[in-house]
Amino acid sequence: MEENTVYNIPPLPVDKDFHMFVCYARGDLEIVHILVENLEKDGLKCSYHERDFTAGHSILTNMLDKIRKSMYMLVILSENFADSGYAQHEVAEAMHIKISEGYSIIPIMIEPCTLPDFLKHTTYIDAQEKEVNEMHKLVIGTVTNHQTVADFQNVTGISIEVHVKWFRERFGSMARYKLKFDDMDRQMIAERGIQLTGHDLDEIETIVSNSKLVRYLHLFDNFGLVTMFIWFLLILCCAFTNLVLLLALLERSKKESEQNGNIIVMLMFFEVIIVVTIFLGFCCCHKSVCTKKKPFTYDQQIWETLHLEKKLAIFNVGARERQLIVFYVPASRSLMLMRYDFKPCQSFFTRRCERKENLRKFQMPGESLINYTNRLFDSFLRSYDVHMLRHSSAQQKRHKMANEAKCICLLVEEMIC
Ligand SMILES: [Zn+2]
Repeated sequence: MEENTVYNIPPLPVDKDFHMFVCYARGDLEIVHILVENLEKDGLKCSYHERDFTAGHSILTNMLDKIRKSMYMLVILSENFADSGYAQHEVAEAMHIKISEGYSIIPIMIEPCTLPDFLKHTTYIDAQEKEVNEMHKLVIGTVTNHQTVADFQNVTGISIEVHVKWFRERFGSMARYKLKFDDMDRQMIAERGIQLTGHDLDEIETIVSNSKLVRYLHLFDNFGLVTMFIWFLLILCCAFTNLVLLLALLERSKKESEQNGNIIVMLMFFEVIIVVTIFLGFCCCHKSVCTKKKPFTYDQQIWETLHLEKKLAIFNVGARERQLIVFYVPASRSLMLMRYDFKPCQSFFTRRCERKENLRKFQMPGESLINYTNRLFDSFLRSYDVHMLRHSSAQQKRHKMANEAKCICLLVEEMIC
């Protein structure tokens, strides 16, 4: 049976004519033919030198023109490519455009070969084991599932935010908020180079879903309604007791009806007092009622958030090695997984400590600068300041972050100075 997959190919933006500009060495032309034919069959428009260049224009003009009209540049990495100075020159030119115009490069390695220096830090599609007729599927997978594998995996500050959602375990059970990574989340996590195994993700799901903050989120949200409901039940109980008492008293003696009437009035009076007292007591316990700005349960939620952060901190213990920061964002009710390459920040901060005495003021006797830096970074990761990494800042920056936030070495410096 023939496999018939329908891909979700992104539409071309108005200023683009092609999905892919294919860059290759002449020796691989045969493979390029097959690959392009398959890609175009599945709906990806391609452009390449042998077929699409306009006669009469210089190669460079042609190439730049086609690159600018394409969404991605597909680079065929092979032995031929490694030997071809010209093909490499083409890619190097494209890299310049990439930097200035935010263009994406997707290298695909079709056989074992040495990577050119300028692609050393870019992740490539590994198609060495694939049949030529199958290679296009990997390329399509890359284009349809994300923006660019290559661009994501080495970027510091790139993150994934997964919201807690409303779930009902089974029909009839009570729905409540939970954190669940679906297949798409898990795929994105892998593609963005976030180093968490399936087991880690399950553990994070459990920690977040079982925390009191998330478990009682629906109660926190509807605190007024819940209180009203309890209060209403209380009044019903009182009314029921009254009725029973009334009937019993009427039954026992019909003569002393006047006295009975007094007893009932007094009973009701006491019951009203009890209900009102409970209600007032309840309000007084939540001092925020008086300010009217924050919800009843504000303080409790803050407390539970801190508790959850403490539990999640176990994932930040190895953050520097794993290049990963995990934290819960109460405002958007989501878990944030951020990929972070600490090395540039760590080594820069260590060097700065050598030069600036005020940065060394918390250094302990006998502690090396590297250990000192690590200790400061770890305490930053455990503090609430870690949330600063979420917000882009218009102020001075140091190491490049995907979200334009300040980098850790700068934030740590601000923290201790
Ligand atoms: Zn930095």
